[in-house]
Amino acid sequence: MNILLTGGMGYIGSHTAALLASAGHRVHIYDNLCNSNIGTLDRIQKIASQVIGFTEGDVRDTEKLTKVLRDEKIDAVIHLSGLKAVGESSQKPIEYYANNVQGSISLIQAMQAVGINTLVFSSSATVYGDPVYLPYDEDHPTNPTNPYGRNKLQVEEILRDLSASDSSWRIGCLRYFNPVGAHETGLIGEDPNGIPNNLMPVIGQVVNGKLPLLNIFGDDYETHDGTGKRDYIHVMDLAEGHLATLIWLQSNLGCHTFNLGTGSSYSVLDLLNRFEEASGQKIPRQVVERRPGDLPEYYAKADKAEKVLGWKTKKTLSDICNSSWLWIKNSKKS
Ligand code: NAD
Ligand code: UDP
Repeated sequence: MNILLTGGMGYIGSHTAALLASAGHRVHIYDNLCNSNIGTLDRIQKIASQVIGFTEGDVRDTEKLTKVLRDEKIDAVIHLSGLKAVGESSQKPIEYYANNVQGSISLIQAMQAVGINTLVFSSSATVYGDPVYLPYDEDHPTNPTNPYGRNKLQVEEILRDLSASDSSWRIGCLRYFNPVGAHETGLIGEDPNGIPNNLMPVIGQVVNGKLPLLNIFGDDYETHDGTGKRDYIHVMDLAEGHLATLIWLQSNLGCHTFNLGTGSSYSVLDLLNRFEEASGQKIPRQVVERRPGDLPEYYAKADKAEKVLGWKTKKTLSDICNSSWLWIKNSKKS
């Protein structure tokens, strides 16, 4: 397949591009580099041992996107581009709606102009909001509590309306849980611009001396050690989930939603202890107030993806910590 990845130079996109190209697909990345670096392209090419096409462009530039889809003879699109900082989305909601919702509409229009109808969309477990029950299954009520989560839900709804209006579409909305880890080569990993919010990149910056210590947001939750629990999914398992979805969509029409998670959860201290084992590094830390809006725990019911797509996660928390450590060590050197 000829596959276009919007946002393919970012964290999840770069790993997915490497996997798809290694699996024999032709990959073209379309990214405006607002949260990524052109240097990543070389490293993806090194992993995949082949040339990966790249166009620098904004997903809201429908004309440019249309031309790329046509010129590259694209068969399917994985739409990963977008802004993703939950806190920032409350401060700059219009920027988020413009980039994430308007950008998705622009992509759909470009695909319609060229007659491409296979699309995989990067959604998020954030669409569920406060748990009515756990684990979240795909039928759990959706009630996102911030603009970022509402962006994701709105795009999902647009895609469901699109599919209802035109039965030729083949769409997968993938609700990611907490992506972590890096490629086993240590060549690519999570490399956020600015100060990170998520746990693993913060740990990386503590190891690299960019931050003095890790603030643990609360140790008085009703969990086994009092710290918050999440469903951490290895980014290469996540990449495999995209490939499985694309293959399945080749013989299935309609708009379908899948959780991509492991089905279990680990606490902040579980992750931290395992990371210290993997790295042999002591991570300075202090317990501070709970972060506003944080949930004590959430995790996926991951059965639907397994039953329908034949996909499930293979990697362990140790794989996550070992690969993250390799990546963090490598980025410290460069
Ligand atoms: P990322 O920021 O590393 O990658 C996103 C990429 O999109 C970046 O390379 C950025 O330059 C590009 N981009 C942003 N706006 C663009 C635009 N208007 N036009 C073209 N390119 C643009 O993020 P990621 O972690 O790789 O996430 C990928 C997708 O998965 C996002 O849509 C995100 O919301 C979603 N997601 C991420 C997580 C997570 O924890 N990482 C969880 C759930 C869902
Ligand atoms: N967390 C933390 N310190 C940090 C960042 C995160 O203690 O600097 C905790 C957070 O409270 C949550 C878990 O780590 O319990 C995962 O947080 P992250 O932001 O990575 O994911 P999200 O909360 O968005 O699922």
